Amino acid sequence: MRRILIAGNWKMNGDRALAKTLVQACAQSQQSNPQVDIAVFPPFPLIPEAVAAAAGSAVAVGAQDLSAQLKGAYTGEVSAPMIHETGASMVLIGHSERRQRHQEGPELLTEKLKQALAEGLSPIFCIGESLQQREQERTEAVISQQLSILSKPEFRSQLADLVIAYEPVWAIGTGMSASPEQAQAVHAHIRGLLTKLGARISGSVRILYGGSVTPESAAGLLACADIDGALVGGASLKADAFAAIAAAAN
Ligand code: PEP
Repeated sequence: MRRILIAGNWKMNGDRALAKTLVQACAQSQQSNPQVDIAVFPPFPLIPEAVAAAAGSAVAVGAQDLSAQLKGAYTGEVSAPMIHETGASMVLIGHSERRQRHQEGPELLTEKLKQALAEGLSPIFCIGESLQQREQERTEAVISQQLSILSKPEFRSQLADLVIAYEPVWAIGTGMSASPEQAQAVHAHIRGLLTKLGARISGSVRILYGGSVTPESAAGLLACADIDGALVGGASLKADAFAAIAAAAN
């Protein structure tokens, strides 16, 4: 049985006070919905505040990115062990904002995934097609390509705890969520790809939907067979809205 995971990507927003307030609200919401896992992804400097506020609760804290390198002359980068030492246990990899604005491609993302897994950080690996790719009916091909790095032999034994987030680029921050039917169709495709990696992996890997999820759209999306949760951007910065999304997972 895959547990529903509701994850909040705060992007470059918030301050220490907001981090504390939001995480405390998440902890309450997790208590009210004990069958739902909740995770938050604050900007790096707010991770310690979020970890402190999450102490004693089941709320997980993660980073929004990590370096592909372990250590050295990489100004501005943050390594997996550094993230781990803050108390964070998860990390986003390959968010479309990083793929697009920081030119993150398959080679770099493979190295990031290796660093996260070697350090015991649970990755949420983000994938998704652009509007143009969808209009050209290339969605499944793009998704297959983005997921192809998972078939590397070095990852095989470590994928059962992986989380995948399907986030169509055209739905992120636009207010234009994919419909449950559109999302489920892609999630079923992803599940089919995972089946090729083994029954254990396809049965246990959670596939989240992300892209303008709101309290209003959440229940319909989360009712789909292959949607195991949500990666939420904008609505994760409002305690009430994020709590309502977690409650919709009921
Ligand atoms: C995201 O950034 O991962 C995201 C899904 O954002 P939003 O919910 O604002 O579309």
